Amino acid sequence: MLIETDVVGLPVLVVGPSALTEPAVRRYRRAGAQVIGVESPTGVTPVLAEWARLAVLVGDARQWPQARAALAGSALVVEEAAPDTARGRVILVGAGPGGTGLLTIDGRRALADADVVLTDRLAEVGDVAALAPGAEVIDVGKLPGHHAVPQTEIERIMVERALAGLTVVRLKGGDPYVFGRGGEEVAAAVGAGVPVTVVPGVSSAVGVPGAAGIPVTHRGVSHVVTIVSGHVPLDDQRARALADLGGTVVVLMGMHNLVPIAAALERCGLDPDTPAAVVERGFTPDQRSLVGTLGTLPGLVERGGAASPAVIVIGDVVRQSQVWARRAGARALEVVG
Ligand code: SAH
Repeated sequence: MLIETDVVGLPVLVVGPSALTEPAVRRYRRAGAQVIGVESPTGVTPVLAEWARLAVLVGDARQWPQARAALAGSALVVEEAAPDTARGRVILVGAGPGGTGLLTIDGRRALADADVVLTDRLAEVGDVAALAPGAEVIDVGKLPGHHAVPQTEIERIMVERALAGLTVVRLKGGDPYVFGRGGEEVAAAVGAGVPVTVVPGVSSAVGVPGAAGIPVTHRGVSHVVTIVSGHVPLDDQRARALADLGGTVVVLMGMHNLVPIAAALERCGLDPDTPAAVVERGFTPDQRSLVGTLGTLPGLVERGGAASPAVIVIGDVVRQSQVWARRAGARALEVVG
């Protein structure tokens, strides 16, 4: 729930058992109020009652006569039901490959309505706290020791908060279902009986080549696109299948395996002169493309260095960015070799 009245600087008491008042305290703080939480029926002292302009009675506190009596005549009193534990839910939101502009309108709405946001490294939508003003933001991409929170722990936090009645947004880079472990998180929610929905996002597999002027399909050039994880090197069976299929191959998470991936594709029949590119840090001010061929790309990357995250694109469509850049007379933001 968003607070729409201007409460900046307003002295607010949030009264109720602490397990219930936490979301309200956070909401009013985020909205700029000065908030004091009161957890016991006798905790609203005359001094606090005098200080407060607004008192929010949450859950059981609506039946605390001492609190009501203390507040009578001094502060505006509003009542809030305890968060309904049956109303908790999980929304997986695809953040796109970078920048707030690539977050969908539904994604923004989900964030605006969130009580908790679990975010990570690749979900770079700028200021998550501003997009989710009522939410506790938990960065599961790093802990104090810079270790990522294990997947099972992410799922545990997500489910636990939803079972407590909160709206939990799991914000993920790109699209949640493209190498994003979105399926596992949906399964965890379903397994716990928590309602779950997925808001798709722009996947880097399509968006990042596009940002470098490479259409992943193009009439007359490629009508097949295969998205492959390069997390582990390609075995020959897969490399042969890709080479036989033709079209465009997009490799995510493949930079540390670029050399064996390119070698496997060549060995299994893909022409070393096939155009190929690496597009780094798509949609950031540091976006850069290295453009060559299957045969030259590993050397180009070795000489030019490569920064993460990056997408590898292999196929004739890569040439398209060059064609257009030339036609537009644009200086290509590229290293070509
Ligand atoms: N679910 C994500 C992909 C997660 S796998 C999606 O749909 O985009 C992570 C990989 O995505 C990275 O290793 C890299 O290959 C790619 N990637 C994500 N964001 C990127 C960006 N801004 N620029 C280049 N590659 C990106």
